Amino acid sequence: MSTSQTSRGERLRRMRERFLAELPERIDELERGWSHVLETAGRPAALEAFHRPVHSLAGTAGTFGQPGLGDQAREIEDVLERLGQSEEESARLELFERIGARLKALRQDAARIRPEALETAAAVEPTRLEPIPSETSGELPSCLLLIEEDRASAEDLVEQLGYYGWNVIWCESLARARAVLETQRIRAIVSDCSPLPEGGVSAPPSSASPNRTGTEPPLIMVSSHWNWDARLAAVRSGADACLSKPIDVHGLADLLDKLTCTRPSDPYRVLILDDSVPLGDYYVAVLRDAGMLAYAISKPSALLDSIATFEPELILLDLYMPDCNGIEAARVVRQEERHAGIPIVFLSGESDRQQQLSAMGTGADDFLTKPIPDADLIRAVELRVSRFRSLTALIRQDSLTGLLNRIAFDLHLESEVARSSRSDAPLVLAILDIDHFKQVNDTYGHPVGDRVIKSLAQMLRKRLRRHDVIGRYGGEEFSVLMPDTTIAAAEKVMNALREQFALLRLPNAGGHFQCTFSAGLAELDDHYSSIALTSTADAALYQAKRLGRNRVVCANADSGAATPP
Ligand code: GH3
Ligand code: MG
Ligand code: MG
Repeated sequence: MSTSQTSRGERLRRMRERFLAELPERIDELERGWSHVLETAGRPAALEAFHRPVHSLAGTAGTFGQPGLGDQAREIEDVLERLGQSEEESARLELFERIGARLKALRQDAARIRPEALETAAAVEPTRLEPIPSETSGELPSCLLLIEEDRASAEDLVEQLGYYGWNVIWCESLARARAVLETQRIRAIVSDCSPLPEGGVSAPPSSASPNRTGTEPPLIMVSSHWNWDARLAAVRSGADACLSKPIDVHGLADLLDKLTCTRPSDPYRVLILDDSVPLGDYYVAVLRDAGMLAYAISKPSALLDSIATFEPELILLDLYMPDCNGIEAARVVRQEERHAGIPIVFLSGESDRQQQLSAMGTGADDFLTKPIPDADLIRAVELRVSRFRSLTALIRQDSLTGLLNRIAFDLHLESEVARSSRSDAPLVLAILDIDHFKQVNDTYGHPVGDRVIKSLAQMLRKRLRRHDVIGRYGGEEFSVLMPDTTIAAAEKVMNALREQFALLRLPNAGGHFQCTFSAGLAELDDHYSSIALTSTADAALYQAKRLGRNRVVCANADSGAATPP
């Protein structure tokens, strides 16, 4: 059994024990509630107060391994419902008696549950929600192994791919390349075919090799004459792609991006609202074990703040809660336009079809009935989140570059400004604009212009940090949001990018040309809104243009670049 399975089993066992430890208290609560119902001769408020712990037990007991108790609680719920519909005194009395009898049976059953389990459970520390883990990049350094006999071609590739963020290790011979593979972690191999007599380079690395990860680095072969035999030989030596010489570096950078984009996707983010803390903890444990980021809250009033900070991709909502019910909570969430698309899944002991339908009427996406087997819960959540991701990717991405479009970027901007203001962390917005781009289109044509836009996008994606947010603001204009970054650090990064972009040789039919960009930077200030931050960065960009282009200008407090509202 793997460690994660063991720890999962252990965690779930603890939760069950905790449920058992708290069971006598729950039964007491039921008894007190019932006494109050009897004292008030069944006043609606008293009945409702009694219904809550009954409903909670009906929903939780099955999950924590006590389906019998869950069934009994559900039977009491059924009688309570009939009581609510019954006017006639004698019928009501009979129903009261029935509840009394069932409650007694429930108490007796609860008392029969293993006493030793209760004792050990009493000593168990209550489970606590762990803080949300911070993102770790986990990315490999982008080392590329280049096998090329010709020094001039190699030097050119080393330089040009360097601008796209590739650290190119150049080997003249296959023997050297093999030695490098044994000692260095390599993300991709580009090999000129001529020095490959037999077998290629993709022979499995030895057990000591850092490249022995189960998947070998992708291999791209290059040749000036690709005929059938050459292609077949390339495929047989494990090539993932064949490129013709002379190499289009930008096409190669594109291809490398595609072939090495094996980064596991970010874990799904699920927010759970359940008034039962142990049940919320339980779902968190189940979903985390399935590799998701899950976070539980028990108070509906915390819902909007949690959505803002945790940014869930799905919300699991309990239907019955004391302060407000799940349907109302879902309506509140849906009223916020930007939360309108988050999938909501109700999770409740409610099996009444009519109630389920009315819950679905709030724009919920699914209704799961408690107790739900772990595997079903995981599958339902995964299905919804993966659909949500495909849809949002379509809506949010710019089709030419794959970067965020303007609307999506502005949403990120909004939430990053809020987050940074709350935590008092620095935040920089950069707006970039390609210089004299109209001339590029006019001279070389629109498709070449498109290629330039794509190259800059690729460079930004490759060279900036994973948590920097990059968008295409429109035309030849880009925006970059750099959280937890001071303006001095951002300026340095942006200048390095600017210098490298200027060195990139961009191809056109007759040869190549070069392009530059200008950028304006603004740092979040106490009294800036996202709009003020944008207009300040924009004003800095236009100052960069006025000062002669191909430069980075930082707005500072007294530059008068923009007036905060
Ligand atoms: P400046 O240095 O002042 O920024 O000058 P500029 O020529 O870059 O600026 P201007 O705003 O005058 O021209 C931008 C050009 O970008 C005009 C427009 O046709 C072109 N453009 C906008 N979107 C695209 C696109 O998706 N592809 C291509 N190829 N061109 C585009
Ligand atoms: Mg421009
Ligand atoms: Mg422009």
